[in-house]
Amino acid sequence: MTVSAPDQCLWCGEPFAQNGGVGRPRRYCRRSHRQRAYEARRLAAAHRLGPDDVLVARDTWRGLGDRRYRLQAAVEDVMADLAEDPGALRQAFDHLLEAAEDLLAFPLEPKALGEERP
Ligand SMILES: [Zn+2]
Repeated sequence: MTVSAPDQCLWCGEPFAQNGGVGRPRRYCRRSHRQRAYEARRLAAAHRLGPDDVLVARDTWRGLGDRRYRLQAAVEDVMADLAEDPGALRQAFDHLLEAAEDLLAFPLEPKALGEERP
């Protein structure tokens, strides 16, 4: 018997294990994600979004832009610090890590998502 890698939820991207029951394999980690994906496809269709189009809320767009800017500034700070003092590696890494963690913790969820091509 082989152990396969867990599937990834088509909504949130988190890995999940199949139940192993009969029927079609699940594509979402939970029912609420299946429902949100359905609603996102309906909204995408209403806006005539193509398969490569994604619609996100303004707050999400701004939040992502702010965090991306913060990460970019942190990278520039770290590069400057290391150019001056290569021994400052730990402090530079912590600065960069903090900005990266802030970006990674930011939830990124579309409002509408065009149906992918098979
Ligand atoms: Zn999910």
